Amino acid sequence: MPLVPMRQILDEAAKGGYGVGAFNVNNMEQIQAIVEAADETNSPVIIQASKGALKYSKLIYLRKLMEAACEECPYIPIAMHLDHGNSVETCKLAIDLGFTSVMMDGSLSEDGKTPNTYEQNVEITRQVVALAHPLGVTVEGELGCLGGIEDGHGAGLSTEEVTEHLTDPAQAEDFVAQTGLDALAVAIGTSHGAYKSGRKDPKTGEMLPPALAMERIHQIHERMPNCHMVMHGSSSVPKELVDTINKYGGNMPDTYGIPIEQIQDGIKHGVRKVNVDTDSRLAMTGAIRKVFAENPGEFDMRKYLGPGRDAMKQVYVDRMTAFGQAGHARDYEPITLEDMKSVYGS
Ligand SMILES: [Zn+2]
Repeated sequence: MPLVPMRQILDEAAKGGYGVGAFNVNNMEQIQAIVEAADETNSPVIIQASKGALKYSKLIYLRKLMEAACEECPYIPIAMHLDHGNSVETCKLAIDLGFTSVMMDGSLSEDGKTPNTYEQNVEITRQVVALAHPLGVTVEGELGCLGGIEDGHGAGLSTEEVTEHLTDPAQAEDFVAQTGLDALAVAIGTSHGAYKSGRKDPKTGEMLPPALAMERIHQIHERMPNCHMVMHGSSSVPKELVDTINKYGGNMPDTYGIPIEQIQDGIKHGVRKVNVDTDSRLAMTGAIRKVFAENPGEFDMRKYLGPGRDAMKQVYVDRMTAFGQAGHARDYEPITLEDMKSVYGS
């Protein structure tokens, strides 16, 4: 089966009332772990690559690995998505490579750091929609700015600044209408990376996960019940994964993730795509550290990348189950980019 347009996966998720994990990849082991997990749980899935991942994998390798995944599991709907495209050119590059979906992150300017104005965001997102839709390719846009920096991408906002850059529901409605995009990434206080800004419990002084503005998601869903929302920075950063890293010689300070329950609340209110990257990195790193610590003489890369792949697969299985996509791979007949062209054209 060829890669399917992401729009179809999101539309079907909306019908079924579930969310779909969008997992970042950089290499073969990650793609294999995701596909094995999707196969085992019978899940449609979104595989995404950032600009940094494309550079690391030297472009064509990722596409060929994705083709292998589709060939191996032809019954699983798989979309390939560009995460945080920073310009029309980057989106075009991904489309030319065969991606079935692109994100134009017009919330930031091309340097990936400086926030754009609302008008600039509308304009560039609209340009990408004009380029992508005639080819059947899905477009995700972002309104508001997320905290944190990952892959050199992010405004590096402080906790206070993140609050100022949350997505405004009224503006979201205007943004969707003006751009015609397929999926809207919302800023609700999540950050990229493992070190999400925590907050202190005023009573106990204990550190808690970041406070999320879930009401923004509820409000946007109320205004636009058919809008597919995307939650970025939605790794849960499980303590046991961080503990494994630290137990075997790592040095990661206390970190916070997004509790699964909050993601599930978002899914109840229109979130259809949930971006998870950090959790698989933690799983891979912990598994490799464990092998090295227990067998310092090990130098066969299959002996540590293999356990790394297994550990990532478990994370993907857990997320696919929690987001509700498990069991839905065979619910519908996947369509092609060609089919999608006429949907947009009509
Ligand atoms: Zn993101």
